[in-house]
Amino acid sequence: MFRKTRLFTPGPTPLAPAAQFAMAAADLHHRTPEFRALYSRVLQQLQSFIGTKNDVVAIAASGTGAMEAAVSNLTSPGDKVLVLTAGKFGERWTSLAKAFGCAVTVVSAPYGETFSLDEVRKNLSPEVRVVFMQATETSTGIRHDISAVAKLLRGSDTLLVVDAITGLGTTHLDVDGDGIDIIIGGSQKALMVPPGMAYLAASQRAWDRMESSKQPRYYFDLRKERKSAAKGESSYTPAVALVAAIGAALDYIASQSNGDVAEGRRKLVANAELCAAMTRAAVQAMGLQLFAPSSPSAAVTAVKAPAGASATDVVKKFKAQFGGILSDGQGEMKGQIFRIAHIGYLDFMDCIAIIAGLEQVLAELTPGAFKLGDGLRAAQQVYRDAAAKKEA
Ligand SMILES: *Cc1c(COP(=O)(O)O)cnc(C)c1O
Repeated sequence: MFRKTRLFTPGPTPLAPAAQFAMAAADLHHRTPEFRALYSRVLQQLQSFIGTKNDVVAIAASGTGAMEAAVSNLTSPGDKVLVLTAGKFGERWTSLAKAFGCAVTVVSAPYGETFSLDEVRKNLSPEVRVVFMQATETSTGIRHDISAVAKLLRGSDTLLVVDAITGLGTTHLDVDGDGIDIIIGGSQKALMVPPGMAYLAASQRAWDRMESSKQPRYYFDLRKERKSAAKGESSYTPAVALVAAIGAALDYIASQSNGDVAEGRRKLVANAELCAAMTRAAVQAMGLQLFAPSSPSAAVTAVKAPAGASATDVVKKFKAQFGGILSDGQGEMKGQIFRIAHIGYLDFMDCIAIIAGLEQVLAELTPGAFKLGDGLRAAQQVYRDAAAKKEA
């Protein structure tokens, strides 16, 4: 059969057509009133998308650039910081904080689980300057409890930094209510545009802390970027085409809910949650096991390799047969799990097609393990139940 290439990966994700057109037409200079108007509007829309009143800045970098900026702007060498980690992206916080000379304490959980709040509490003290964590750990498919961690920090001077690069647009977050001091997103995830831009919102406490940080920083000096943003500019040449694309994508997201970005984001989150629930039901009905069953994220569903086959075979066969790109496990999880993303520009039709393709692939890899239609039937039922509750 014909094959169309389709991304079902947790970044980059499929592109919104409106964003692609906007990129192609983004023939403008960044020191002009036209660009300033666009940039100011996009930063405002990003505020609604994040769901915060805090100032938002954007930088031309992949998501990790904004993670580094959070470390270099909020800490000083020798600062005590706490990293909560249960996967590859949590480990990135540890590496970054160490690279900047912080004294890092790590609370970790095995891959596929979330950390114990008791252990987090035991490791908190007034000396801990910053806590770094993920909203959703993309490498394992687990969702962490941001609000519970935020509660432990309430009333203290410890700042909370959340990598929500796959959390934004897939998870209902109460950024200001929880007092998240820096929340980070990336263009290639729920914003439906290509990689290359990262954005973050910082609280007043975070902006204040930046004044006393003794880390060297230049390109990633967020204070400078904030001053430029207030004038509708970026300190250096921005990723002009991506800014235009993000504006168009956020308009598209808003258009799903009468032009309201915040409502559109809620709908996008509900969409991811329902796709994730359908996918979880389907893979289990096919005899497969979830990798992170205790607190599965709606960003990505991680599935254990079927008995007698490698996850790498599933991913390879799915691409060879249907042109769909799934993700293998990262690092030592390679071959052990495969991952299906529900981030951004994906809908009911995509979700059903993924499950149908997976049935075909597994019917060959593990014949007799299930009957064709088992996964689809389970997913359809989840959709029906949600529709009955008017969630769809
Ligand atoms: C994608 C992702 C990142 C950022 O990775 P980049 O390759 O630097 O864009 C960071 N954290 C999480 C949880 C992610 O999913």
